[in-house]
Amino acid sequence: MARYTGPVCRLCRREGMKLFLKGTRCFSDKCAIEKRNFAPGQHGRDRKAKIVGYGLQLREKQKAKRIYFALEGQFRAYYEKAATAPGVTGELLLQQLERRLDNVAYRLGYASSRRQARQIVRHGHVEVNGRKVNIPSFQVSVGDEIKIRPNSQKLSVIEIAREFASHQPAPAWLQTNPAELSGKIIALPRREDIQLPVNEQLIVELYSK
Ligand code: SF4
Repeated sequence: MARYTGPVCRLCRREGMKLFLKGTRCFSDKCAIEKRNFAPGQHGRDRKAKIVGYGLQLREKQKAKRIYFALEGQFRAYYEKAATAPGVTGELLLQQLERRLDNVAYRLGYASSRRQARQIVRHGHVEVNGRKVNIPSFQVSVGDEIKIRPNSQKLSVIEIAREFASHQPAPAWLQTNPAELSGKIIALPRREDIQLPVNEQLIVELYSK
């Protein structure tokens, strides 16, 4: 499965903001945005032009894609589905991103970043309704029970993530049971539950041209 394998801090520097792609490092003074908050590349420091119109729409789309580690084809497929479903397209687009299994694993505190959560899913440490699911883009539904598989619960990477997550409350659409490393989807995420620095309307405008 294709995925971005380049340096992730570069993605934050391109967007000019923290996208929190590296877990605990993002909260330390080693964060590249703290040290070098300018665009990557030879002329990164020089580019100060105000972004408007198409450029702004493109940046919003890139930002959302990067936060969730979705590739272009997959991201467009989310948009196409959102555009044909009843409801607010931008909100439905974000909802699909939020319902990805790797994101849910991150939100439940099984990993300190979405990237790490993706790896935990890929390595088969997560089960949905009692069955192993190793597809990061798997869409969870209301009523699904997500759990770290019993043999994986003692992994040091999950212990560390659990400690990290204990300081962050889970969103209202998820019910968590930290002791058993399990959680349940009790509602679909609404826009106000998705705390993202993304203007989804600009993404819709970009794709609907
Ligand atoms: Fe982004 Fe985290 Fe890297 Fe900072 S440490 S630039 S927030 S990925």
